[in-house]
Amino acid sequence: MTTFKLLLLPGDGIGPEVAGEIGKIVGFLTSAGVGSFETETDLVGGAAYDAHGRPVSDATVALARESDAVLFGAVGGPKWDGVPYQHRPEAGLLRLRKDLGLFANLRPALCYPALAGASSLRREFVEGLDLLIVRELTGGVYFGEPKEIVTLESGEKRAVDTQIYTTGEIERIAAVAFDLARTRRNKVSSAEKRNVMKSGVLWHEVVSRVHRERFPDVELEHVLADNCAMQLVRQPKQYDVIVTDNLFGDILSDVGAMLTGSLGMLPSASLGAPDPETGRRSALYEPVHGSAPDIAGQGVANPLAMIGSLAMALRYSLGLGSVADALEGAVSDVLASGVRTRDIAPPGANAVGTGEMGDAVLRELKTRLARA
Ligand code: NAD
Repeated sequence: MTTFKLLLLPGDGIGPEVAGEIGKIVGFLTSAGVGSFETETDLVGGAAYDAHGRPVSDATVALARESDAVLFGAVGGPKWDGVPYQHRPEAGLLRLRKDLGLFANLRPALCYPALAGASSLRREFVEGLDLLIVRELTGGVYFGEPKEIVTLESGEKRAVDTQIYTTGEIERIAAVAFDLARTRRNKVSSAEKRNVMKSGVLWHEVVSRVHRERFPDVELEHVLADNCAMQLVRQPKQYDVIVTDNLFGDILSDVGAMLTGSLGMLPSASLGAPDPETGRRSALYEPVHGSAPDIAGQGVANPLAMIGSLAMALRYSLGLGSVADALEGAVSDVLASGVRTRDIAPPGANAVGTGEMGDAVLRELKTRLARA
């Protein structure tokens, strides 16, 4: 039986509550003989700061490097508002992303039929939606230098951010998008602003070349990022994989997220480059939501974003695509049966807690795997 090494970093607030449901599912997968999962649990964020005076320790980063996948809950909360900037809980996540070289952020927008009514768009536009936004995560305008606010001789101030992309950065994110498209509906839409930005001109050129040389079997279209935002709310089902830079990806993935309803439903993955010898990529999987201090400790948080993150880890890091399909199918079954946590329940309807939702998914997963 293959052994998979998972590192679980529950973090703060509702992080440990939703991460607790991962333990149940992984325990079952081991007992069902799907694989042998070796799970280590460690501190990150405010919890790590309280224990070690920093939001992630060197030992935890080393464990993350050795793992097949890191499952991250959420970090932060008012308790750490006064902590020095470089030690704030979020800095733990940023360090993990940087040290593991996680340059590709994957944000699926999957609309479960049972929740189509919760979208701000009409049901027919979102029902069955399944798109994936691949965002470049470590380059572009958030990191480019110079990045400064200077005072001019006139006394006016001038702020500068710099959008920078190199050929290599664009090539590697494009390759991730094309690779993923091959496992889906085989279409990539590349979004940039080549009409007004030099970085957009290079982006367009490099994505076209990577397509021509390495992925001619995948359908490629180019779309201006502003038009892409419009198309996402006009006709989102036209998209399969959207690949874009750090800034546009930040915005477009939030649009994609809201097409599907609640924050408690949204998983994500961040991937590094494949190891030249083993082909293994560093990878961190996390819900899009934060630590939700307003509901922490009440046992009412929705664990489905965290469970969806586990499904992504099974698919992209552990080569267990069919188990990932079964897990996502189990979530769909549970929602179809009407089980809801408070955040996705209609007003006045009964809602279950975090543990009951996790148990319901586990029951459906057992049924699905027994049938397979
Ligand atoms: P949040 O995502 O924590 O919460 C926003 C709202 O959504 C809250 O009302 C919350 O109750 C609700 N919500 C979020 N997740 C939910 C879930 N699983 N089930 C039910 N309801 C859920 O965002 P925020 O309030 O802006 O931030 C709170 C803290 O989290 C801050 O310290 C912030 O810095 C941090 N944060 C961390 C991450 C991360 O760890 N990746 C991401 C975003 C925010």
